[in-house]
Amino acid sequence: MAKRKPSARPPEGVVKGPYLQSSVKRRIEALFLDNVGKVLSREQILEAARDPVSGKEPENWHQRLSELRTDDSYTILSWRNRGGLKVQEYMMPHTEKRLGAAKRVKPTKQTWQQVLDRAGHRCEWLEKGQKCGLREGESDPIGGGRVTLTPDHKRPHSVDPDADPKDPNQWQALCGRHQVVKKNYWDSMTGKLNTYAIVQAAPETEKRAVFLFLLEYFGYALEADGSIRKREGS
Ligand SMILES: [Zn+2]
Repeated sequence: MAKRKPSARPPEGVVKGPYLQSSVKRRIEALFLDNVGKVLSREQILEAARDPVSGKEPENWHQRLSELRTDDSYTILSWRNRGGLKVQEYMMPHTEKRLGAAKRVKPTKQTWQQVLDRAGHRCEWLEKGQKCGLREGESDPIGGGRVTLTPDHKRPHSVDPDADPKDPNQWQALCGRHQVVKKNYWDSMTGKLNTYAIVQAAPETEKRAVFLFLLEYFGYALEADGSIRKREGS
């Protein structure tokens, strides 16, 4: 493989706030717009995302960050796609929104009501034959906050851009976490399966299974005391 030139490290960002926007996503957006081309750490994002009234740190900031990419079409880079960034660091290189997501079709109000009735007001995400089943308004045990269901076109936008807003069979109700999981399956820039995002959104038990698989794959063993050892001969 050709050696990649290490990218120069961009300058550090600063939290200019206070950010008084009413949603976590908008406060994170404001922070990034104040720091275009600069590195922002997880701590800085948490600080900006904090509820301006209660001071509470949001548990679901990472999901909101993903939505800025998937729903708002911003480019936000991390260590995975930008050399010079460390794990838990992020950067918005410019404020241009990616094309294509701007005119995303939504179901009509009536169609959405039909979908919700069919779904019993529960998330319809199917995994290993089991529905997610999170109910609208319940507290979300994984994503944090309250469950909000939103419409998802079953076929990815990149595959079928001509969604019919009046056909309930083309739509499903998904909770916030599963919206992000679905949208992150494919990286819209490269068209590749986004393995990292899938693992990141997976439940703890599956993350652990992947972790153990990777240890095995790379020739490591997990000791009873939690330390990791390189296996003999590998
Ligand atoms: Zn769900």
